[in-house]
Amino acid sequence: MDRLTVGIDLGGTKILALIVAESGEILARAKSKTKTGLGVEGIGGQMHKTAEKALKRAGVSWEAVERVGIAVPTSVDPATGDVLHAPALGWRNQPARAVFESIFEHRVVLENDVNCGTLAECRAGAAKGAATVVGYFVGTGLGGGVVIDGEIRRGRRGVAGELGHEIIRHNGKLCGCGHRGCVEAYASKTAFCREFRRLILKKGRKSVLSDLTSDTTFKSIKSSVLAEAYRREDPVVCKVLRKGAWMLGVATANLHAILAPDCVVYGGGVMEALGPELLPEIRRGLEAHLFGITPEDVSLRLSALGDDAVPLGAACLAADTANE
Ligand SMILES: [Zn+2]
Repeated sequence: MDRLTVGIDLGGTKILALIVAESGEILARAKSKTKTGLGVEGIGGQMHKTAEKALKRAGVSWEAVERVGIAVPTSVDPATGDVLHAPALGWRNQPARAVFESIFEHRVVLENDVNCGTLAECRAGAAKGAATVVGYFVGTGLGGGVVIDGEIRRGRRGVAGELGHEIIRHNGKLCGCGHRGCVEAYASKTAFCREFRRLILKKGRKSVLSDLTSDTTFKSIKSSVLAEAYRREDPVVCKVLRKGAWMLGVATANLHAILAPDCVVYGGGVMEALGPELLPEIRRGLEAHLFGITPEDVSLRLSALGDDAVPLGAACLAADTANE
């Protein structure tokens, strides 16, 4: 019988579970809303239920499952499986892997979500066949992942690939991490919303955003609303997003000087909604700073796997460890 893997994306707002066959084929999916106040054990129970729903849809039971891979929105200590700091879930220094293993009664592999997404794009998505791949996922924050020779680069204490905190402007805009000038402070929904507040609320610039969203303080805006405003050529939204995309291109040029990856993949909610519009601007920012290689030799692609990327990558990792 086929040995199945469960791959789970544990996000701050939703949990997505996949049942994945040995061939890599996705047999079933199930989704639920994350109840963030529950703590590690409560969330573990919720993930277990969501996985069970997916198993039911696939017509199989837990006996068919070999391993479970779980992607989390934070760094994971590779040695212990402890979650270091996950603001989206309200966790700090939690022994998450041990807790999840006792709930699932299976071996659990825990990994950072964007590392998983980048790995899946490398194995089965936009970067299939490439050896060295960098992934940028633009959402509330800016996540990053680095895959070298087909393997996730975790680095010391598991903190490699935190590409959102690459500093691209000395003494630049304040980032959520406390430093100034990180690329996340320019190219993330949090950064965009801060610019909207500055331009619309403080400077009185007109924008269709005021009509498109009921959130008049621009605390958080859905990617679909951003896309609608961009397509209507709203000057505020176009300016802020194009600047963000250009800065992401600058960050990519730096990464290129360090790694010269075979492929760079852009995913996440913002790129899902506006990828074709923003990719040319990212490329312009990159080409203005590129060193040692012609622009035609640089491969920039949009994520091909969408929401499946992160849980599929978690499943790939879990299956890898089962084969070790
Ligand atoms: Zn930062």
